[in-house]
Amino acid sequence: MFSFVARRYDTLRPVEVLIASGRIARITPARIGDGLTGAGSLPVVAPGFVDLQINGYQGREFNDPQLTAEKVRHVALAMDASGCTSFLATCTTDSYEVLANSFAVLARTIEELPEVAARIPGFHCEGPFISSIDGPRGAHPKQHVRVPTVEEFLRLQDAACGRIKLLTISPEFDEAIPVIRAAVKQGVIIAIGHTAATSEQITAAIDAGATMSTHLGNGAHPQIRRHPNYIWDQLADDRLTASLIVDGHHLPANVVKAMIRAKGTSRCVLVSDVTSLGGMPAGRYATGLGDLEVLDNGKLVIAGQRDILAGASLLMDTCVAQVMRFAGVSLTTAIEMASTQPAALIGRHDHRLDVGCPANLVLFDEPTAETTKLVIRRTMSRGEWV
Ligand SMILES: [Zn+2]
Repeated sequence: MFSFVARRYDTLRPVEVLIASGRIARITPARIGDGLTGAGSLPVVAPGFVDLQINGYQGREFNDPQLTAEKVRHVALAMDASGCTSFLATCTTDSYEVLANSFAVLARTIEELPEVAARIPGFHCEGPFISSIDGPRGAHPKQHVRVPTVEEFLRLQDAACGRIKLLTISPEFDEAIPVIRAAVKQGVIIAIGHTAATSEQITAAIDAGATMSTHLGNGAHPQIRRHPNYIWDQLADDRLTASLIVDGHHLPANVVKAMIRAKGTSRCVLVSDVTSLGGMPAGRYATGLGDLEVLDNGKLVIAGQRDILAGASLLMDTCVAQVMRFAGVSLTTAIEMASTQPAALIGRHDHRLDVGCPANLVLFDEPTAETTKLVIRRTMSRGEWV
């Protein structure tokens, strides 16, 4: 049993937080004085970040025919420094064999390593049932995109030992609807993404149980009809919560602001969508997607130019700070879009800064108007500093 003093993210009031048996045992107002220079210098405490989309990090990726427990563990522990205490390990469009193997290795690693189980509550299957059209398909390999079938989804879920929590699918196929129904029946969250679907197809998917949009505004055509289109359709439907990549590169500031105002802050969550080149030094890398380059500002692009994005490389500590700057939301709102709200989507309603909740916490310096990345002081996983 031990305690620490910090300021609550939602009130900025100093509190003493008592931790016992991996949980928050007590939160009481802290007395400031006696050696402390003042409350303003205390770090802020918040529930740890929950990222619904992590593909890999520091040279390891989950879409890897040679995926090992050690690679999974490396990515899981590497997230601590960014304040991310849990995430959905994300596999993207690939052959059935690669996907089934990756999900099986991930599931086995969770069984074997408690430190990985604490950080990976489930998986995100992004594809292979997505649009094959250039633009909506994003960087997913065209040769592995395929028509959805209930049978393949169920086989992948079996390989994953039932741990697929989120399925990103395009409803532009008639076959998507039975897959959505079958997945919803298993408690899987359905996200519309990488899609060229019509308004009618999007409505049909929502009626069948889709409740999310995956990285709305990305994985789309460079040019689309002004209206109607699949972005307006998803923005307008209150049954959908949108995930947004607010890393400073994937969406312009005005788009982030307009989308968050259209959906309302309670229907938006932040995702990093970080890939294996995240956390790598600036430079050129040969990858399965061709030669890519990490720029000095962290932007991941096709090698030799500065504008065509090739994936995400920044984490939640960046996204939280950027969403405050871009959309003008409060610290409280930004934190909830990165922690309690995504946690609730995957059924973790006890991921809060409240007595009795698991002690998965992040401590960071209060951001200023210029902050583009939070300064993380400490991260706690199940009651232990990590
Ligand atoms: Zn994607």
